[in-house]
Amino acid sequence: METVYRFKLIPSIRQAETMASWLGMLRGMVNYNLADRIDSYSQGFIQGNFCSLRFKAEACPLTCSVVRSASNGHPWKQNKPTLRRRKPKLDQPFNPRRSAYEMQSSGLPGLKQSRPWYQAVNADVLQQALRHLDTAFNQFFQGKSGFPQFKRRNDFNSFEFKPKTVKVNGNHIMLPTLGEMRFFKSRDIPNSWEIRTVTVTQKADGWYASLLLRDDSVPEKPKKAVAELQSVNGVDRGITKIAAMADGTVELNPHIGKRYQRRLGIRQRRLSRKKKGSANRAKVRQRVARLHQKIRRVRTDFQWKLARRIARSADLIGFEDLNIKGMKQRCKPKQDPQTGRYIQNGQTAKTALNKAISDASWYSLRVKTEHQARKLGNWVVDAPAHHSSQECSECHYISPGNRVGEKFICESCGHHEDADVDAAVVIADRARVKIGQPNLPMVSREVTPKPELTGCKESSLALVGEPGNRPGNPERTAATVQLSLFELVSGESPSISLCG
Ligand SMILES: [Zn+2]
Repeated sequence: METVYRFKLIPSIRQAETMASWLGMLRGMVNYNLADRIDSYSQGFIQGNFCSLRFKAEACPLTCSVVRSASNGHPWKQNKPTLRRRKPKLDQPFNPRRSAYEMQSSGLPGLKQSRPWYQAVNADVLQQALRHLDTAFNQFFQGKSGFPQFKRRNDFNSFEFKPKTVKVNGNHIMLPTLGEMRFFKSRDIPNSWEIRTVTVTQKADGWYASLLLRDDSVPEKPKKAVAELQSVNGVDRGITKIAAMADGTVELNPHIGKRYQRRLGIRQRRLSRKKKGSANRAKVRQRVARLHQKIRRVRTDFQWKLARRIARSADLIGFEDLNIKGMKQRCKPKQDPQTGRYIQNGQTAKTALNKAISDASWYSLRVKTEHQARKLGNWVVDAPAHHSSQECSECHYISPGNRVGEKFICESCGHHEDADVDAAVVIADRARVKIGQPNLPMVSREVTPKPELTGCKESSLALVGEPGNRPGNPERTAATVQLSLFELVSGESPSISLCG
């Protein structure tokens, strides 16, 4: 089994400087090799593997350097069997041509010769960066991700050590080339687990190390067999209620991004008014970055807790199959048929909705739930989403008239319920049909307890310290507004924990 532990590092000033300089050099190297791959890739379309299209002569290092995927480094392996690193596979003939990664990696000694400062970077770290580039291309060719992009200073903030090269001793970590470094040992690493790759990341508040740990003696939790499944639960994701479940529980959306929107706006405005390149600008930039980090952490924390609760609620969890990208698309421009001038198309209102959709981060909730469910052997499936909020969960009658605001009242059989909970039951039903178990029992209903208001940390009081900011009314926080709205609409009290 594999797992990841993350620790915060305490580098010395010199170590922090070295790591920052490595990042700069690695970014330059990766971008150079990315450009090399792009050039050779597009050239490959014109020339294929041939040196000359007229004679169909294959490219060879003596006459030309054109090889598919890369042209940096050496295209041919050294043919002496003793110099082969890997044992040749029996069923495959020895291929003397290097792969794109191998070619680029073979160019590293040349790089260190022409730019001697690259000798300061750990050799494994250089190779791992190229390997990541290779993975990025492979994933693009397999259709799993987009085309690899050039990295800017902000996008490139981590490097990786190879397996078994990093050692941990007490509260010290031994990183190759960088030397011994202290770290906050927030948890113990079990003795039997082997430290594999170690990724060092720069974040707004310092450096972190992610340790990939592996222990083959600990088996992965197997996914339950279809016959073993006992119950099914459905989740309907929304804006007001981030998750309504078939068991009757409703989780309100904490609107985390919105909660910090004002503070972020103030800081970003302050940043924009600082002179470029000044020390004050650097300071405020740091504060903006720290706030972004905080928002991310609050959201992640809320989502992990919710995901864990969803994953434990039933053996099979159904999510509606949302086309989130499509939902966030811009409205089509509208033209006046007579004058040809552009008129209102509703994009202004849509922008706010799009922002709310991004803030809710539905997709990452699904990913986190799946991660938690895997630990328990539970299933997570996507069920078709069409008309899930208009379908009656009792008699399956579909009509837009079934839904009256937040309430669901079936026009055919009179069944009534919270509209989102009803949608969740429909989704759960579709999920069990999808895996071929239409008789799987629905998860039992919970009695919704009275909400407890814990009070949100983010109130206007927190903003008093910011210059140019009036103290607001601390009693009317986002949470109370949310709750009163909800009660107004639905006329009942939901089960909530607004602050996660
Ligand atoms: Zn009905």
